[in-house]
Amino acid sequence: MVFGLFGRKGSDARDDDEDDEDIELVSFQGAVNGKDVDLAANGRLAQAGLIPAKELVTDAIGRRAEQVKIELKGERAQVTLYVDGMPYSGGKLAKPQFVAVTQMLKLLAGLDPKLKGQAQHGGVKADYQGTPYEVTVDATPQPDGADRVILRTRNLKAKMSTMEDLGFPPSLKATLREISSKRHGLIIVAGPPGSGVTTTAYAFLKGLDLYMYSAFTIVKMGSREVYNVQQFERNEGDDYTFTAERMIRSEADVIFLDPIDGPEMAKTAAAVADRVTILSEMPAKDAASGIVQFRDWIGDPAKMSELIEGFFSQKLIRTLCVGCKEAFRPNPKLLAKVGLPPETKVLYRKPEFEPDPKTGEMPEPCEKCGGLGYLGRIAMVEYILASETIKKLIAEGASADQIKAQARAEGMQTLHKDGLRLVAEGKTSLEELQRIFKAG
Ligand SMILES: [Zn+2]
Repeated sequence: MVFGLFGRKGSDARDDDEDDEDIELVSFQGAVNGKDVDLAANGRLAQAGLIPAKELVTDAIGRRAEQVKIELKGERAQVTLYVDGMPYSGGKLAKPQFVAVTQMLKLLAGLDPKLKGQAQHGGVKADYQGTPYEVTVDATPQPDGADRVILRTRNLKAKMSTMEDLGFPPSLKATLREISSKRHGLIIVAGPPGSGVTTTAYAFLKGLDLYMYSAFTIVKMGSREVYNVQQFERNEGDDYTFTAERMIRSEADVIFLDPIDGPEMAKTAAAVADRVTILSEMPAKDAASGIVQFRDWIGDPAKMSELIEGFFSQKLIRTLCVGCKEAFRPNPKLLAKVGLPPETKVLYRKPEFEPDPKTGEMPEPCEKCGGLGYLGRIAMVEYILASETIKKLIAEGASADQIKAQARAEGMQTLHKDGLRLVAEGKTSLEELQRIFKAG
């Protein structure tokens, strides 16, 4: 085990450290692609880059960052950590250190550290305080010749989110169960990449009545496996549609499909969705754009109109930390302005951390959130269900805007309306809701 050599505490590596700085560093446990990472053959790189790479990943995981961006600007590189989607500084690196750290991360992720001018994608398995993580490494060449490196961390032990965890109301689960019980049609979660579509699609799958209906998939779920969903193997030489037909013959009521990312997958879904409920995700700006994109991919408006059951879209919003959120009584003017019911008695906000007026000292930051005021994220959701009018518009080739306007006229749940519900429930703040919609 090559990494055993370096599996020591960070402080041991620098003997001038104080005892109270005894932070345990992550240990790396091999490349995700299975490539043998030969540290001995890269001794100088390992000497310069391994400990700093470990410190960087330890800092990211310790601060709950889901993403880290390392970007060279002139002679220094800026490290940016993203915690619940918000950027925070992760410090700066001098150019030689930047080169050592990024090349080291590439080596650990099973990539070629010396390859230049080409995008590379890999990942490294890591262990932090007994918890397994997967850290993906994306290196993209920049005009100045240096790579921009993006890391994404994922806790492999993290509990899979349910619809309740994501903050979805019981009415949404009831709607989902009603439309999935028909055993035919398309149920699609549409959203921009990175917006949480995959998490929502899995939460939907978990939210189906999996005791009543048999669900099949050929998606390689890995650590995301869902209880009561049968894994189906694709036989060599069989295409996706043929495999889906086999699942239907095995009495599938629901098929959880790989992300629909183009005409081929869309046509596969459309070919069987008259006999089975298809649940999947796709990249799109919102629910209405997803419908139009899907219709274009299958090239058959009448069929799209016949198959649609529901298109969903969501946006993540930060939740207030329960350890430090502050209640306040909103004034009636504010309630009217934002569109909350006048009888709303209490709302919550992030506390203001201000120095003590007497001593000038800052208060101790909240232990739960480290003083950020927010901890974790939930989803606001919008959806378009297939009413007769919506179906007619789809068949006639209506635009996303026309479909959206009709859905709103029928009382569609919009992202903003759902966000206000979360504010009223005290899960998030008005400030956060405004920030999300300003950011677009
Ligand atoms: Zn807090």
